[in-house]
Amino acid sequence: MIKFKVITPSKGALERQVMEAIKRGIRSKLTGVFCPEHHQQPTVIVAGSINAPDIQLEVCCDKLKEALEVATGDC
Ligand SMILES: [Zn+2]
Repeated sequence: MIKFKVITPSKGALERQVMEAIKRGIRSKLTGVFCPEHHQQPTVIVAGSINAPDIQLEVCCDKLKEALEVATGDC
């Protein structure tokens, strides 16, 4: 289960829709990415503004970081 920490304010209905779309995109990209050692998924931190979100991934260790780099390397 991928956790989200949303720092970006999204007050209006439209902003919330955009935020949901951002989350959906990240979730679909990271589905199946687990730490081989801890079986954890990353925590996704969404900061910045709704138009220019700053996505950060919090990981349990370097192995998950590597797995993420493989999973997201082609973007
Ligand atoms: Zn780990």
